[in-house]
Amino acid sequence: MANSFHPPVRTLMGPGPSDVNPRVLEAMSRPTIGHLDPAFIGLMDELKALMQYAFKTENRLTLPISAPGSAGMEACFVNLVEPGDKVIVCQNGVFGGRMKENVERCGGQAIMVQDDWGRAVSLEKVEQALLENKDAKVLAFVHAETSTGALSDAQKLCKLAQAHNCLTIVDAVTSLGGVEVDVDGWGIDAIYSGTQKCLSCTPGLSPVSFSEKAVHAISNRKSKVQSWFLDMNLVMGYWGEGAKRAYHHTAPINALYCLHEALVILEEEGLERAWARHAMNHQALAAGIEAMGLSFVVPSTERLPQLNAVSVPEGVDEALVRKSLLDNYSLEIGAGLGALAGKVWRIGLMGFAANSKNVLMCLGALEATLSHIGADIKKGVAVEAAQAQYLSE
Ligand SMILES: *Cc1c(COP(=O)(O)O)cnc(C)c1O
Repeated sequence: MANSFHPPVRTLMGPGPSDVNPRVLEAMSRPTIGHLDPAFIGLMDELKALMQYAFKTENRLTLPISAPGSAGMEACFVNLVEPGDKVIVCQNGVFGGRMKENVERCGGQAIMVQDDWGRAVSLEKVEQALLENKDAKVLAFVHAETSTGALSDAQKLCKLAQAHNCLTIVDAVTSLGGVEVDVDGWGIDAIYSGTQKCLSCTPGLSPVSFSEKAVHAISNRKSKVQSWFLDMNLVMGYWGEGAKRAYHHTAPINALYCLHEALVILEEEGLERAWARHAMNHQALAAGIEAMGLSFVVPSTERLPQLNAVSVPEGVDEALVRKSLLDNYSLEIGAGLGALAGKVWRIGLMGFAANSKNVLMCLGALEATLSHIGADIKKGVAVEAAQAQYLSE
């Protein structure tokens, strides 16, 4: 007979999931009620307002997809891309490749704009692609590329798309809550995020939002959305305005309590303060990493504060270091993905995990581990460099 599962207590500083705020975990254990219960409908209305706050939008079609970030991605593509549509897809890491896969599975044609892994999406290349493909319907890009730690200029990319009469699909899974995201200010048409990165909520939900232009495109499709579950025309019947809600699927009630709590916490802190906290902790971590003699993959002007890709020094077994951090410090950091597999560690500073205690502990643990295996690093300087950075703030 199996026993109850009691997970070890970890510090999660990888690419997600991130540490979940105890308030969010407590919300999960509140009593389950019916998904059409008037009290639950009230929660749904509040959730929508909170997501609109987080996304900085007044979009009516703003809701959480009942599945992880990947389903939010799929929801955007299956609703906006019809067979034969041309989509310009920017790829500078793993997730742009998944966008291409989505476009093609929708019967669309993906025009790829490739950039080096570890660099932001090139505005010049995107403009060129828009000029060469006047019939493109959508420009899709990843705002915060979690596989490399690169931040792209979403505002300028959206401006280019608008100048060429293209809709935009933006992956904000890792950016939301960690760096500025301004859906209405930047004119984003479709955006998806995830709960388990900078929102520090339990994994498994994907907040999405669609502009009026996107809604118009969705309601005027020539063909039915091929996914029944993700068809926004149907999901709207449940998440739409007012008390008239039709059953579509059973909402993950308790998971939605968690998202509500996570967004209440974000609103209490304030978006700008949350972004500033991520930036400050990143600066301290970076000071320590560089003092040790380690280097970043991404140039400093294109770096994400919440995801730090650090090059593995020559001759160091990267997996052994991660295992030792987990075994000895209960600290999780991430491995490289795709083209960067085996070459980098990915240190996340996401949401609740972005704090000075974690930064100092991670630097100390990494230094002790590298030093133990005889790696060529500067010893005894990382924690001090990070502390000096905090004191200078
Ligand atoms: C994590 C992530 C996803 C996928 O989210 P899941 O919740 O794992 O499905 C998509 N895009 C980016 C940029 C991510 O970091």
